Amino acid sequence: MSTRTLGLPEAVWNYLVDVTVHEPAVLSELRRETAELPNGGMQIAPEEGRLLSFLIELTGAVRYLEVGVFTGYSSTCAALALPAHGRVVACDQSDEWTSIARRYWQRAGVADKIELRLGPALTTLSALVAEGANGSFDFAFVDADKENAEAYYEYALGLLRPGGVFAFDNALWSGSVADPADQRESTRAVRALNARVCSDPRVSATLIPVGDGLLVARKR
Ligand code: CA
Repeated sequence: MSTRTLGLPEAVWNYLVDVTVHEPAVLSELRRETAELPNGGMQIAPEEGRLLSFLIELTGAVRYLEVGVFTGYSSTCAALALPAHGRVVACDQSDEWTSIARRYWQRAGVADKIELRLGPALTTLSALVAEGANGSFDFAFVDADKENAEAYYEYALGLLRPGGVFAFDNALWSGSVADPADQRESTRAVRALNARVCSDPRVSATLIPVGDGLLVARKR
């Protein structure tokens, strides 16, 4: 995990963030509060949040699905980037972390755009499919446990419309995907997902080395 782009010298990272991110105060405060938490490293990098916002605007996304909310940095970026009638469906199983997210959604003025679904993501995703949501999302960002990555991908692909975008965080998993000696279940799962998505004829994909690596795929 990394809260800044892997391998980037500090001065270059500072320059990149200073020039490109223009983070609203509510997001920098959320980043500061999250950095104090024991799991603060799970937060995405600000330059990755900027990329996410950019991709949402670029694709004209209206319905955004997120798997793995944590304290709400990415969902707040997304909700701010969506049009006024945009909608976020945010899935997480932690009431503790998402209570922080809910506080910042309020402060950012986007709480009305966001529907939080608490519970194990596989259960929530399966419920969305049962509700007939397949093909209804424009953008899906997955940043949850890595062991279930392939299952999340399959659900997300079904829930996306053709032309919709799938994005998966920690695709470089702190660089461990490139270390053959690292055979942790999480590392193997991220490696398997990267390989699968990048050779999946149902999508066009790439892996952007921003933050801890963002795997991005467009559903054909
Ligand atoms: Ca992450």
